[in-house]
Amino acid sequence: MQHLGVLKEGERRRLVALAPAGVQRLGKQLRISVQRGAGRAAGYSDEAYEQAGATLVEHRDDILRECDVILSHDSHYRGEDFGTPKTFIGFFNVLSDRPVVEPYKKKGTSLYSLDLIPRTTLAQAMDVLSSVASISGYQAVLLAAERSLATVPMITSAGGTLRPARFLIMGAGVAGLQAIATGRRLGAIVRAYDVRSASRTEVESLGATFIEVEGATEDKKAGGYAVEQSADHLERVRQMIHQEAVHADVIITTAKIPGRKAPLLITEDMVRSMKPGAVVVDLAAATGGNCALTEPDATVMRKEVTILGPTMIECSCAHSTSFLLSNNYTTFIEHLLKNADNADDEILKGTRVVADGEVVNARYLGT
Ligand code: NAD
Repeated sequence: MQHLGVLKEGERRRLVALAPAGVQRLGKQLRISVQRGAGRAAGYSDEAYEQAGATLVEHRDDILRECDVILSHDSHYRGEDFGTPKTFIGFFNVLSDRPVVEPYKKKGTSLYSLDLIPRTTLAQAMDVLSSVASISGYQAVLLAAERSLATVPMITSAGGTLRPARFLIMGAGVAGLQAIATGRRLGAIVRAYDVRSASRTEVESLGATFIEVEGATEDKKAGGYAVEQSADHLERVRQMIHQEAVHADVIITTAKIPGRKAPLLITEDMVRSMKPGAVVVDLAAATGGNCALTEPDATVMRKEVTILGPTMIECSCAHSTSFLLSNNYTTFIEHLLKNADNADDEILKGTRVVADGEVVNARYLGT
């Protein structure tokens, strides 16, 4: 029976890649060791792991020495020599952080990185990116509501009536749709824009208004993702946002293009035209930001407008995020155990970055 080891992540993230429920599920097929304290910051106690059937191990190096398959969301292997071959599984952003792959180029070592998971129906239950995006969209609304100087729902009280807040959501993918749904539940009037016209029905089904800007470039071959837009189209979008920004109490931006810098949608001029007390939450901060004033993980004030660029917003509800990640990784590991010998398996081929010390991934290699 293979031996799976779960590493403790870095202190800032607070996440864990496998929850006790995942230990229970995988325990029928694998021996499982968990580094002591791995789930503590996410609200999963060492006792819960033991009760689920895992063995607690004191040190990271012991996990690396004793286990065959090593799971961590983003805690990196540093290339130490532990004798026996290892398979590493995690979410290592290998396309934007290319050198991260180097330590894994050792004989017998394999690396699967789930940021490369294909966007197919079969792979949906393993899509870590979607889990993180859902929670980020939800948290962005809570953060904006908390930092805004205005309330979100309509409130009628002895002192009069407060009108509902106006939200503008840029990008209606997984994070944007969750932000729309959460904003609507809080009672906001929500307007949203995306370059993919297919998102119109999803936006409208959540009770928000879709903003149409003609002339967007769409590419069916991009696997459901957005592609870069022409300068002319981006200019038209900017004019539209400028008009919208004047009325918005909250702008949440989620626009991304895989493997590229995020598109600039909100200029300093637009921020200056916003109402005092308004808030911009930029969920694209880690890849350059959708707002010109965004600074990753910092609060920027321009006139009386607050601009926030959280890069790890999903970690503020670490218990729920870890629960979703754990389900994603558990499904992936079950798939790996079942299909390890199938060289043509689309999911394994898509996520395998290193095999026996050699970089083999087509997207990483650009082939
Ligand atoms: P993402 O995080 O890459 O981007 C977020 C959104 O920003 C996308 O909707 C994108 O169209 C939009 N965007 C990009 N440039 C823009 C611009 N200049 N202006 C406005 N919006 C812009 O995307 P995502 O949330 O990962 O989802 C992308 C697509 O993949 C969606 O269609 C989603 O439903 C699909 N998806 C499929 C699966 C699956 O089948 N396994 C899983 C997750 C998502």
